[in-house]
Amino acid sequence: MKISVIGTGYVGLVTGTCLAETGNEVVCVDIDENKVQKMRNGEVPIYEPHLDVLFERNIKAGRLKFSTSLSEGLEHGEIIFLALPTPDDGDGAADLSFVLGVSEQIGKIIKDYKVIVDKSTVPVGTAEKVQAVIAKNAICDFDVVSNPEFLREGFAVDDFLKPERIVIGSSSEKATELMKKLYKPFVRSGNPIIIMDEKSAELTKYAANSFLAAKITFMNEIANYCEKVGADVDKVRIGMGTDSRIGKRFLFPGIGYGGSCFPKDVKALYNSGKESDYNFAMLDAVIKVNQKQKTALIPKIKAYFDNDLQNKTFAIWGLAFKPETDDIREAPSLYIIDELLNNGAKIKAFDPEAMENVSNKYGDKISFSKTMYDAITNVDALIICTEWSIFRTPDFEKIRKNLKSQVIFDGRNLYDIQDMEKEQLDYISIGRSNAF
Ligand code: NAD
Repeated sequence: MKISVIGTGYVGLVTGTCLAETGNEVVCVDIDENKVQKMRNGEVPIYEPHLDVLFERNIKAGRLKFSTSLSEGLEHGEIIFLALPTPDDGDGAADLSFVLGVSEQIGKIIKDYKVIVDKSTVPVGTAEKVQAVIAKNAICDFDVVSNPEFLREGFAVDDFLKPERIVIGSSSEKATELMKKLYKPFVRSGNPIIIMDEKSAELTKYAANSFLAAKITFMNEIANYCEKVGADVDKVRIGMGTDSRIGKRFLFPGIGYGGSCFPKDVKALYNSGKESDYNFAMLDAVIKVNQKQKTALIPKIKAYFDNDLQNKTFAIWGLAFKPETDDIREAPSLYIIDELLNNGAKIKAFDPEAMENVSNKYGDKISFSKTMYDAITNVDALIICTEWSIFRTPDFEKIRKNLKSQVIFDGRNLYDIQDMEKEQLDYISIGRSNAF
């Protein structure tokens, strides 16, 4: 099939590449000329495990092409995916200007039947808006389909190739059949393609992300309470998670959720509720608790150093909002960096993939190290913000020898309390018995 993808970020590029992998001819369009030039030169512009192999293979096979021209993309594809940003508009609602702006242009350009697929995460009712905006100028038939994306950064290729489910919101039989045909190779193991109306599909994505954000936040509240009463959240987590109604996943406490999706999606759903005169009281609490949780280590750090962080130097391991990505959008590390800098501290940071993005934001306000051990030389203490695998079994002797104060502040609970006692390091984590 002939496919075009408009917007080649984490979602668009993975979508385009994986659809090319199953034999489709794909043109990816992006407004960012620099990015398109890089991709034409065979460079993957983001870090996403396994993407490079598929990317290279499909470019070589001539199935994956790149363009800055929307007209070229629209001429090529019968199915047009919109994988455009829907950021927070500043007031917590989803900014639809990218999606509706491109839709307006689509209406003016298309000359024959197209299926316009909204893959961006958008509020209920957006498919209707897209339909109306295109219809204003269109001289041919078209259908608008809602097809929310559930991939996780860091596992995006795997998630796309083997999705647990595909949700398609459509009221057109013709468009639904085309979408089913396109996705058939990805559900051979029997996972469902769930067909529903557009509004329900749009809400499914927000409901799923908000539920997961609430699950994390609930555990963070339990962790905070554990600290007050001397319970151990790790034990509580295991005790709870073995109940199959609850499940073991997404129960790990820490310094809050970040990233390009959960924070903006929870806020957008809360805001959509307000527009329909519905108060999502629970989501309001999730947003507030998570915001506070991002800096939950700061009071512990301050207490340890008697409220004096002036000229103290901290090593930070992990900057990305989660492991296996270079994405730093809404990363808790950034909130911790800001607090430390505001208190006169200095920072030496290390992250396997995200240092360039953080350096673009902070310039020389913080320094970066080539390795995790370079980062701990001549520092007062170590702070862990992201649970990259390489931080899980470090050389504790090296850490002990380097840190001026023998203390690790761990926002991701990577180590066992007993092990750390044996290592003779002060170890301050989230929701466990030695919390400071
Ligand atoms: P992104 O910011 O990484 O990429 C968006 C791309 O769109 C950029 O390359 C940008 O240059 C391009 N773009 C902007 N305006 C354009 C235009 N007019 N024409 C062509 N290209 C244009 O965004 P993302 O993370 O891929 O997210 C895209 C959407 O998918 C969002 O709605 C997001 O909420 C949703 N989503 C994201 C994820 C994720 O893990 N990142 C997962 C599921 C859903």
